[in-house]
Amino acid sequence: MSNHPTGSITNPFALPDAEGYTWLKGNLHSHTTNSDGKAAPQDRLDGYVNQGYDYLCLSDHHNITFINTVKAPDDFVLIQGAELHPDNPFGGQKHHFVCLNLSKDMDAQHMPPQHVIDEVNRQGGAVFLAHPHWSSVNIHRDTAPLTGFAGIEVFNTTCRVAGRGESSVQWDDWMELENRLYPALADDDSHAIEADRRDTYQGWTWVRVKERSADAIVEALVAGASYASTGPEIRDIQLRRTDEEGAERTQVEATVSCSSAQRIAAVCDSHGTEYHQHSELFETATFALRPNARWVRFEIVGATGLKAWSNPFDLTCLERA
Ligand SMILES: [Zn+2]
Ligand SMILES: [Zn+2]
Repeated sequence: MSNHPTGSITNPFALPDAEGYTWLKGNLHSHTTNSDGKAAPQDRLDGYVNQGYDYLCLSDHHNITFINTVKAPDDFVLIQGAELHPDNPFGGQKHHFVCLNLSKDMDAQHMPPQHVIDEVNRQGGAVFLAHPHWSSVNIHRDTAPLTGFAGIEVFNTTCRVAGRGESSVQWDDWMELENRLYPALADDDSHAIEADRRDTYQGWTWVRVKERSADAIVEALVAGASYASTGPEIRDIQLRRTDEEGAERTQVEATVSCSSAQRIAAVCDSHGTEYHQHSELFETATFALRPNARWVRFEIVGATGLKAWSNPFDLTCLERA
């Protein structure tokens, strides 16, 4: 089939325990008293450690909060980064980029956005588009003129407080416009202290890695070997070609396993969605996806309404079983 999407995603559920892969839980977007956060860097870090997270980025505005200024337990991974805000020459609000694995500061506020992305990538880092719904990003106007992004924040806790926490529309819009698959993060963007219970420990990203290191985690996030959640756990996703040899249309069957769900939706390119919704909670669902769909991602709505988002999977390169 022609028209393959660009941007390849690694299915994390196909990476076996036997090869040493493990799931790590983390938050990649948080602020401290080094910018407009209310928690000191060490307190922010200690909070996530105490909540059982495996990794964290102290992504203060404009400048890196260097990870050698705080002390983490040996098996906890700190990812050094910042939220950078170049001007937006295309007409929208200034940009919000979550930049991971940065080694050096840059004067992003006085650099064109493409130069900021290029410099982050030159440093071996990765740029994720932060909370586009909250910041009224118009993908066509503000984002599509730029290249070199790693992915997008599909969920942001502090933006949910302000009524615009989920950016799945912007995510789909971007992928549709570019025919490119982008992996997604769920982040807290924590500003408050944890006692406020406002924007801490409510959005996280599970990443599938062999190694507890910042490089391994960022590499896996960029490859899409991850999923985003505010509650539900995704346990497995399997995709199978079911069309006959020589068939006019490709047909894919998908099976999703997860913690208790009230709804699971299979969101494909172009239009529409298949979904399962039952009066009883359920933990697995099988979908016959729309014929010739190019990609699919899954959304799980758990027992209490909290959601999880898989990354999109390319359906155009699946081999027949
Ligand atoms: Zn922001
Ligand atoms: Zn932020």
